[in-house]
Amino acid sequence: MDAIVALCRRRGFIFQSSEIYGGINGFWDYGPLGVELKRNLKDAWWHDMVKCPPEGPDGHPVDMVGVDCTIIMNPKVWIASGHVAGFNDPMRDCKTEGCKGRFRADQIQQYQCPLKPSKCPGEFEKCQLTDARQFNLMFESHAGAIKDEASKVYLRPETAQGIFANFRNVVDTSRVKVPFGIAQQGKAFRNEVTPRNYTFRSREFEQMEIEFFIRPESAKDYYTFWRDLRYNWWQSIGLAGENLQLREHDKDELSHYAKEGAGTSDVEYRFPFTAPGFGELEGIAHRTDFDLRAHAEHSGLGDRLKYFDQEKNEKYFPHVIEPSAGADRGTLALLCEAYTPDESRPSKVYMKFHPRMAPIKAGVFPLVNKDGMPEIAHKLYMDLRSRWNIEYDPKQSIGKRYARMDEAGTPYCFTIDGETPGSNTVTVRERDTQSQQRIAIDKVKAFLAEKIG
Ligand code: ATP
Repeated sequence: MDAIVALCRRRGFIFQSSEIYGGINGFWDYGPLGVELKRNLKDAWWHDMVKCPPEGPDGHPVDMVGVDCTIIMNPKVWIASGHVAGFNDPMRDCKTEGCKGRFRADQIQQYQCPLKPSKCPGEFEKCQLTDARQFNLMFESHAGAIKDEASKVYLRPETAQGIFANFRNVVDTSRVKVPFGIAQQGKAFRNEVTPRNYTFRSREFEQMEIEFFIRPESAKDYYTFWRDLRYNWWQSIGLAGENLQLREHDKDELSHYAKEGAGTSDVEYRFPFTAPGFGELEGIAHRTDFDLRAHAEHSGLGDRLKYFDQEKNEKYFPHVIEPSAGADRGTLALLCEAYTPDESRPSKVYMKFHPRMAPIKAGVFPLVNKDGMPEIAHKLYMDLRSRWNIEYDPKQSIGKRYARMDEAGTPYCFTIDGETPGSNTVTVRERDTQSQQRIAIDKVKAFLAEKIG
């Protein structure tokens, strides 16, 4: 993991937030390569889930729309959702001089004593641990000039509630009919007591959530549909190996609303810091009608928040299947999966991103800066960059330029050399095999389109 973190820092994938002031625990910034990677992940999700979802279990195309809600909402939302009363992690503090560590009570077996790292995880018997105490994970702020209880607001701890709060608006203003889904991507904030494992557990992060509204009797079919679709999707963007797994929850792990549901499962990735175990990338849960009912009650709207089925002339609270994924954990999994040590290369390592996820799709290099090569290279670069993120690099030896692209995970490099002006061909070098072949310069765009899409 240290090597991955170092590469991410060195090549501009991820920086500590406010690093020049010593950083701030639990907050991370994305640099020029990282922002492209994360954007590719989010765009692929939006494209594949919202714009072009596949057919559902009933054989009809899945109906999806999106929303983009505010981070600060009426605080009553968080009372209705249960977050004000119940969004707590029980924590235990260590009073031992020099430690003052704080640990999640339910995960104490996984921690190592910070003062004696040589001890096995969970060996806290000589430590002075307090009993478990509750900490609310929601960040608070105040809206307006006066800071009092009445102006207290929260930064949303999940994007889901913005969707539920807009359920009525969406049904009234678009042509959606149950079954349909509402999707949202956006920031969420949790004052995690022990942020750790790089971006895996941060205090500010981004979620990609779908609330899929269904008739209660079709819960089993849609739960299975979304669980499998989401698992397959993570595989399709490059997490296809044995580091990815789908895990169905045991009954005793289930949240309050899920006990009676059709199921809950996690898509999990084996991160270097969880190995041999796995960490959650996404949860897929049958949330029943818990949230809509809660908002119906707390907003006073009651039955007016029900869905009206015109064909059946029936009013009801739809049930919900929720696939809820983290964009930062997803990005981190892509980084871990891509990291491939290779002693035979000048860079000693390359990032084997799926071409669709790669931050830079191709490098364009003039072999030397004379004999018309830069002009041809520049023209090719301008042509390709209208469609993809391309790097033009005229400097240093060609070996060093390939090495830089290997570390960035760029799948293809096109070099304009002495033969190009005469033959109108360029060499294309593939990242994974390092093989090189000549192709016609006017075929480069079609080549990339076929490889990358
Ligand atoms: P965990 O048990 O790891 O705290 P969770 O079950 O509370 O996660 P959810 O509330 O289901 O997580 O949130 C959905 C997704 O949001 C998670 O699968 C994860 O990808 C992401 N996520 C949640 N908390 C964080 C965090 N602190 N940092 C980064 N991503 C997060």
